[in-house]
Amino acid sequence: MSGAILSTHGLIARYGDFQALYGIDFEIDAGEAVALIGANGAGKSTFLRALMGLLPVAAGMVRMEGTPIGGTATDRMVQMGVAIVPEGRRLFAGMSVEDNLRVAMDQAERLGRKGGWSLQRLHDLFPILKEKARTPVQSLSGGQQQMVSIGRALLCQPKLLLCDEISLGLAPKVIREIYAALPEVRAQGTSIILVEQDVGLAKQASDRLYCLLEGRVTLTGPSAEVTRDAISQAYFGGS
Ligand code: ATP
Repeated sequence: MSGAILSTHGLIARYGDFQALYGIDFEIDAGEAVALIGANGAGKSTFLRALMGLLPVAAGMVRMEGTPIGGTATDRMVQMGVAIVPEGRRLFAGMSVEDNLRVAMDQAERLGRKGGWSLQRLHDLFPILKEKARTPVQSLSGGQQQMVSIGRALLCQPKLLLCDEISLGLAPKVIREIYAALPEVRAQGTSIILVEQDVGLAKQASDRLYCLLEGRVTLTGPSAEVTRDAISQAYFGGS
């Protein structure tokens, strides 16, 4: 058995009759950052949803620290130490920054998760969240909302953080600010799976990467070593 914090073997996921993932073999170690790249519709979000229990695993195996967990409910995944920063952020509109964050703190407490993240530490990571604590989230900029969404996931005290396109639609300066926070997250021993459309960013922020094409892994390797040509081939397919 490997020392992976999470691994999948032959993972298959479907939406009704449509098969979105065709047997994904994947693993991530403690403290590692792994990027998942691929074109629109390749299956990246589906993979994260299946890991998080938001979509049933049709076949195959998911293991968390060696224990099979395929088909586990989302609350249980949070309890086991997996948290997601979902595509589109999904904050509670009408609630303040702090109230959004408190929902996560309450969830962590209810599920008995303990860890090093607190409001104070989050404010050190993203000082704007302290400044805007009482502001309704819908009044924030996209980047600030993304910081709340990341903060909410961190307050679940994850061992593994799933990030779904956290740079999408944000200005380069804000993207840099958000990506600059990731090493701090990893320094806590938290592993990160990063779904990212921007290949340069994905390579830079990860130790290893996987490329998906039409629900299959077409490339995997150390991010510093995979070439642009190899990525291009894996991204678009063809021979
Ligand atoms: P994107 O960058 O567009 O989010 P992705 O790699 O994350 O791309 P997925 O969203 O995982 O891709 O989609 C994989 C496939 O599953 C696509 O063909 C998509 O059309 C299909 N799909 C995604 N969500 C659903 C759904 N709720 N119902 C049916 N099909 C879906």
